[in-house]
Amino acid sequence: MPPKPSPAVPTVKISCRGAERLKSGHVWVYRSDVISADRVAPGGVVGVKDERGRFLGTALYSTASQIALRMISTEAISDLSALIRQRIENALAYREQVVRDSDAYRVIFSEGDFLPGLIVDRYNDALSLQVLTQAMDTEPVRRTVLTELNARLKPDSIAERTDPKIRELEHLPPRASGLLQGQKGSTIFAMNGVKFHYDALTGQKTGAFLDQRENYAAAAQYARGEALDVFCYHGGFALHLAPHCSKVTGVDSSRPALEVADRNAALNGREIEWIEANAFDLLRDYAAAGNRYDTIVLDPPAFAKSKKNLDTALRGYKELNLRALKMLRPGGTLITCSCSYHVSVGQFLEVVADSARDVHRNLRLLENRSQAKDHPILLTVPETAYLKCLIVSVSY
Ligand code: SAH
Repeated sequence: MPPKPSPAVPTVKISCRGAERLKSGHVWVYRSDVISADRVAPGGVVGVKDERGRFLGTALYSTASQIALRMISTEAISDLSALIRQRIENALAYREQVVRDSDAYRVIFSEGDFLPGLIVDRYNDALSLQVLTQAMDTEPVRRTVLTELNARLKPDSIAERTDPKIRELEHLPPRASGLLQGQKGSTIFAMNGVKFHYDALTGQKTGAFLDQRENYAAAAQYARGEALDVFCYHGGFALHLAPHCSKVTGVDSSRPALEVADRNAALNGREIEWIEANAFDLLRDYAAAGNRYDTIVLDPPAFAKSKKNLDTALRGYKELNLRALKMLRPGGTLITCSCSYHVSVGQFLEVVADSARDVHRNLRLLENRSQAKDHPILLTVPETAYLKCLIVSVSY
């Protein structure tokens, strides 16, 4: 039998600038670089061509986002389902290589796994899914993703976490977070030998900060004495430091987060002091009172949500780091993080160096780290790299 002709894939023509960007290895084309487009349904598959009509690859189209095209292949794709299944298989094979000592990890990291707009996290037997684009929200794609995840990972439950702001920006109908399958969204997962409670339908992000998994283990290597974990959330760092420290205090402004942190401490048989406070106020007061620590972790939320508030963000990081450095005993360790994509590693190093100068202390850089490897960074897509984690030692 002759092969069935595939239904015509609409074409989008892009500018030279857009084509150059793709040639550099990036996977986004902004709307301002779209010259002309055939009629495409929201989230549809399109063939991408340059101004001279040369074929550049296949992309997923958004009718709403400033990122009009997200490339999924440099080839012509007629069967999107098959491609998605292959990409999920590849994503899992990669995790087999890089994830150790954990039954919780990011299974799919959007562009980092060539599945733009899709995030899937695994917490033991529970999966959590986030859809960020029109294409990933279409029924056939959702069905393919769920079928494939079920077949390969056999989870007890799959929950969807929706972000109303993102859905609005993508012109997607409102949709509540909730369980897509299974009876309960709660479970217990473990990383680096530390156990955590997980509840799919509460908490921030998709439930836990998996991107810090390798940094928890690194921080534990240097931890000792009295430790302060600032912006502790469910106690990720605090719980990893506890076996090596004489006393650990965790600070967060969210009471619900601290309640889970306390349950996590009990689960691991650890005694940790939890303080509900604004970190800025607490650090100022503690520094003024002359409190001293041997190990301090700073892991604030993203201060720079856009380029516009970069200066304010840098001032925020400076203030936190300055106060923490003041309180560290000679030979103490600071583990300081930034998850703002808009703050570069260079800028972050400079902020910490600046803080050290202001408090007249010398720092040695022990480790210059980033996000866990299950949040893959594509070298040609800078936006995939966002987490910075520096471990520095305060000189004697
Ligand atoms: N270190 C955590 C993740 C921190 S996320 C982990 O490894 O899991 C950032 C945390 O900062 C959130 O828990 C949030 O509740 C808290 N937070 C935000 N603003 C704060 C403030 N001004 N003072 C104290 N905590 C704050």
